[in-house]
Amino acid sequence: MASNHHVIQVAVPRPLHSVYDYHVDGSTDVPKVGARLRVPFGRSEVIGVCISTKVDTPHDNTKAVLEILDADAAIAEELLDLAQWMSGYYHYPLGEVLATILPSAARKGSDFEIKPPPPPDLWHLLDPSAASPRAKTQQAFVQHMQLAGAPVTGPDLESAGFNRPMLRKLETLGVVERKHSTDSTALDPPLTATPEQAQAIEAVTKTKQFATFLLEGVTGSGKTEVYLQVMAPVLEQGKQVLVLVPEIALTPQTLARFENRFAGVGIMHSGLTDQQRLQTWLRCRSGDIRVLIGTRSAVFTPFADLGLIIVDEEHDSSYKQQEGLRYSARDLTVKRAQSANIPLLLGSATPSLESLYNVQRGRYRHLEITQRAGGALMPSFDVIDMRGQSLRGGFSDTLIRIIRQHLTATGQVLIYLNRRGFAPTLLCQSCGWQCVCSDCDAKLTLHRRPEQMVCHHCSLRFALPERCEHCGHTDLLPIGVGTQRAEETLAELFPGVPLYRIDRDTTRTTNQLNSQLEQIHQGRPCIMVGTQMLAKGHHFPQVTLVAVVNADAGFLSPDFRAPERTAQLIVQVAGRAGRAERPGQVWIQSHQPENPLLKRLMAHGYSSFAQAELNSRLDAGLPPGQPMAMLRAEAFDPQIALEFLQQCKGHLLNQVKTKNNTPHGDVQIMGPIPAPMARVAKRARFQLILIAESRPQLHRLLASIGQPKTPSSLRWSIDVDPYDAM
Ligand code: ADP
Ligand code: ZN
Ligand code: ZN
Repeated sequence: MASNHHVIQVAVPRPLHSVYDYHVDGSTDVPKVGARLRVPFGRSEVIGVCISTKVDTPHDNTKAVLEILDADAAIAEELLDLAQWMSGYYHYPLGEVLATILPSAARKGSDFEIKPPPPPDLWHLLDPSAASPRAKTQQAFVQHMQLAGAPVTGPDLESAGFNRPMLRKLETLGVVERKHSTDSTALDPPLTATPEQAQAIEAVTKTKQFATFLLEGVTGSGKTEVYLQVMAPVLEQGKQVLVLVPEIALTPQTLARFENRFAGVGIMHSGLTDQQRLQTWLRCRSGDIRVLIGTRSAVFTPFADLGLIIVDEEHDSSYKQQEGLRYSARDLTVKRAQSANIPLLLGSATPSLESLYNVQRGRYRHLEITQRAGGALMPSFDVIDMRGQSLRGGFSDTLIRIIRQHLTATGQVLIYLNRRGFAPTLLCQSCGWQCVCSDCDAKLTLHRRPEQMVCHHCSLRFALPERCEHCGHTDLLPIGVGTQRAEETLAELFPGVPLYRIDRDTTRTTNQLNSQLEQIHQGRPCIMVGTQMLAKGHHFPQVTLVAVVNADAGFLSPDFRAPERTAQLIVQVAGRAGRAERPGQVWIQSHQPENPLLKRLMAHGYSSFAQAELNSRLDAGLPPGQPMAMLRAEAFDPQIALEFLQQCKGHLLNQVKTKNNTPHGDVQIMGPIPAPMARVAKRARFQLILIAESRPQLHRLLASIGQPKTPSSLRWSIDVDPYDAM
C-alpha cells in the first residue's frame, strides 16, 4: 500500500463482522463520515457507509473504495450515533443496522436529488350524474366526494385508493374538475381545549428541553387535539414535528385531521414506493416537510430541525419490529428526543406497563385526561355469562336481544372477534381428531367462499378433508366462531340490516376498506363485525353498542404479556362506543365471568388493572421490573436448534459463574424450550429466555455470545425486550 493512501472504516450490509478497513488514494478527497461508498466485498460490490476516517493501525492489505456516492454525509451524525447505539443494544451488526435505517432506494445507491413535488391539485365535484351508474368505483368516488363536502387534494384521493388514470377519466366525463391551487387551502382553527386538555398542552409547551410525557387519556378524550395544539407553537418557531402512529391507524380520517390543521404534512408508511419513500425522507432532511406522520420505520427519518416527537397509541405492538433488527420504535424515540434535546409526548388510552413503570420511577411525567371531549360520556360495561346459554354462531340470546334493541333505536353496532375465517377448528365428532397444517404445529382455520382450510401461520391452503384422517369418519364439525361465521349468523338474525365485515380478508386494498368505512360513516343503523382492524383509532360517532364475542382466550394464555394485551384490546374496542351525543354500551361475553382479571378490568377500569398487573410483574421479577432477552433458534432438524441453544446456555452459565462465583447468580436462564408455536413452515422453533438483574449485566452476557460458528441450516436471533413469544 502506498503511503499516500488514506485508510477509512466502512460498515457494509453483511452479518458477522460488518466493519472493514478500505483505502482511498491520495488524489481523491477523503469521504465524509456518514457518506455512502461503493466498495468491493468478496467477489461482489456493496454499498457501505463510511463510519470513521481515523484508523489507528492502518494495514497493508486494504482494498480501494470504488466510488464515493455522497459529497456530504448521507446519514447525519445524530443517526449514525443512534445506529451505533442500536448495534450495541440490539446486538446486531452495525452495517445491517445502517441498511435498516436507510430507505431502500438510498441503500441501493439512488441519487439524493429532490424532485419538485407534483403541483398541488384540488378536485371539485362538478356533476355526479355524469358518472356511470353501473361503474362501482365511479360511484364510490362520487360518494367519497359528497361525504367530504369540499374539494379534495389529488394526493388525498390517491391515498383513498383513487388512482390518477381514474381521476383523469372522471375529469373527461365531466364528473370532476381539477384546479391547481397555489394558495394554501383554508386550515381548520384549533378547538377550545377542555381544562384537562389545556393542562396537558401547557405542560408540554412550556418544556423546551428533553422530557418524556405520558398522556393517558380515555378513549375519545381528544388526545389528537392535544397533539395538534402542542405542535402548533413548535411549527411556528420553524421547527419540525415527527408523529408516529400504528400501522393500522393510518386511516384517511386520521391524516385529514393533521392536514386540515397544518401545511407541509408528509406521510411515511409501508404502502409507498421506494422512490416516494426516498423523496419524503429527503424532504424531511431539507426541512421542506414540516410535519411527518409515519409508521414504525419513520423513526429513522433525518430532520433539518426537529422540535417535538409524538407517539400515538404508544402501547401498540406494531412499534416493535418482529424480524431482522427487532427494534422498538417507541423506545427509539426516547433516544432521539434525548439527543435532539426536545420534548417527547407518548399518548394512549391504555398505556404500556413499561411506560407506566417509567412514570412510577419518575422518568416520565404523567398527564391525564379522565373525561371525554365534547360532552360524550364513557360507555357502560357489562359481562354476559355464556354458561348455560344456548348459543347461535357464538351469540348468546342475551346478546342477540341487546343487538336488536340498539338497531331498533337506530344505533350502529360493532362486534369484535379475534379470528378471521369461518371456524378456527374442524373436529372429528367420532374420535376428536382436529385438522392441522402439514407444515406447522397449528390447527387449520376453515374459510368459506372459497371453501378451504387455511393455515394462519404459514398461509398454506388445503382442500377440505372429506373424512377424518385418523378414524375415517365423515362427521367433521366446524368448532368456534370466526368473522365469516359471525357474519353469516348475523345476516340470518337481522335480515335487511347492512352488515360490514372488516378483517384482513375483506380489506386487501385500501379502496375496499375505505368504501366500507365511508358507508358506515353515513351513520345509518348497521352492524360491523371484525378483528382488531376495527378496534383501533376509528371514530364512529353513531356506534352505541360494542360487543366482544369472547373475552376468555386472552386471559388464559401462558404468555406473561397476554393479560395486558387483552385488557388494552378490550378497552380500545370498547372505546369505539358512544363517542358522540349518544351514550354507548359495551357487552362482553365470557364463559368465566368470575376471572379476577376480567372482573378487575370491568369494575375498576384500565388504570387500576394496569397497576395490579404491573405489581404482579414486579413481584415475579418480569419486565418491566427486570430486563429480558430471548434467544430464538429454528431449523428443519429440531436437534440442531435445540443443541445450539443448549450450547448458548452452557456458555452463559459459565459467564455468570466466573463473574459471580455462584452457579446462577442473579441471572435467570430459562429453557431451551419449544416456542409456543413449536413448528412453523417445517422449521422447529426453540427459545431461551434470559432475565437479568440489570441492563449492563444483560448486555454483557448477550455480547459474550459473539458470533458463534453455526450450521448453515440454523437461523437464530437475539430479541432484546421481546414483545411476543414467537
Ligand atoms: P382520542 O384520540 O383521545 O380517542 P379524539 O382526538 O379522536 O380522541 O377526539 C374525540 C372527538 O372529540 C373528536 O371528534 C374530536 O373532534 C372531539 N374533540 C376533541 N377535543 C375537543 C374539544 N376541546 N372540544 C370539542 N370537541 C373536541
Ligand atoms: Zn376421527
Ligand atoms: Zn402452516
